[in-house]
Amino acid sequence: MDAQRIDTIVETHDLPTYRRQQLLHAFFTENCATFDDVTTLSKSLRTSIDLPAMTVRKRRLLVSNEGNAFKALVELDDGKLIETVLLEPKPGLWSCCISSQVGCLMKCSFCATGRLGFTRHLTSEEITDQVLFWRQYIRAEGLEANLRNVVYMGMGEPFHNKDAVFASLRELTNPETFNIGARSISVSTSGLVPAIEEFTDQFPQINLAVSLHAATDELRQHLMPVNKPYPLEKLRAAMDYYVDNTNRKLFIEYIMLDGENDQPAHAEKLVQYIRGMARPHLAHVNLIVYNPTDAGHRESPRAIARAFMAILKDNGLSATIRKNLGRDINGACGQLALKGQV
Ligand code: SF4
Repeated sequence: MDAQRIDTIVETHDLPTYRRQQLLHAFFTENCATFDDVTTLSKSLRTSIDLPAMTVRKRRLLVSNEGNAFKALVELDDGKLIETVLLEPKPGLWSCCISSQVGCLMKCSFCATGRLGFTRHLTSEEITDQVLFWRQYIRAEGLEANLRNVVYMGMGEPFHNKDAVFASLRELTNPETFNIGARSISVSTSGLVPAIEEFTDQFPQINLAVSLHAATDELRQHLMPVNKPYPLEKLRAAMDYYVDNTNRKLFIEYIMLDGENDQPAHAEKLVQYIRGMARPHLAHVNLIVYNPTDAGHRESPRAIARAFMAILKDNGLSATIRKNLGRDINGACGQLALKGQV
């Protein structure tokens, strides 16, 4: 459901303008899930609409033991499956982590989604419907939740599906529909340099996270094949472009893999790399302890992660260790892989 779908219905059924407002209100304020729920429309009008309201349908839903992470397996119109996640990282602060593709082409070695391979891009509506899905879920379950943040960190590389992702960002910030503040949205990329620059030009208020995971080309290329066309030097220039043009903080994601990229020498390299940025004080490093998948890496021990963070901080950088939510339901970063479903 998006503004375009509502316009199509209004046009097809030759409805007056106030019906458009009723439909917008029903889906984007009341969180209705079907046309049948829209009681402001007459029964005959409701049944005459032969379009489904949503492009995603729930197949399975898992709730973490702590009750602060939910993962849904949803089916698209062509039967393809994706996963989408709802998280409560702090009490009362809810975020959803949405997918932008079925599978992913980027083949990051530590990521369960990357091992699925690429099937297809999602449409803009399939992307934004994941947000509506969670709003509807919150309402149906009576959760005390206000879904305020959206992160593009689910399945897929958002900038590989740039056109649909950019259209979805416009829809999420559209005051007529989702009306989500740009600063409450974050897009995460593995480092597709040309798209970072376009994103900066078009969405300077939206948060950007860059998955770095290593600060030497040799190691990064081993972990992330995207480093070959877009090595660290080019990536840093794109990150500088974002920071220079937005004056905003840039998030650097660093997954911690036991013995591979978590040693003091790796931390020193990272310090050197970030200090080489035009405005290093605007970089914030999110250290993410690796979430187990079948990919053959091991998670860094907590003490190692803390020692790594201390080196960054001692060198004047901003860094935190991210809380891992939803590991028990394979809903944490890098774990979305339709496990048991394909
Ligand atoms: S980490 Fe992101 S970009 Fe890399 S394979 Fe996984 S989904 Fe794709």
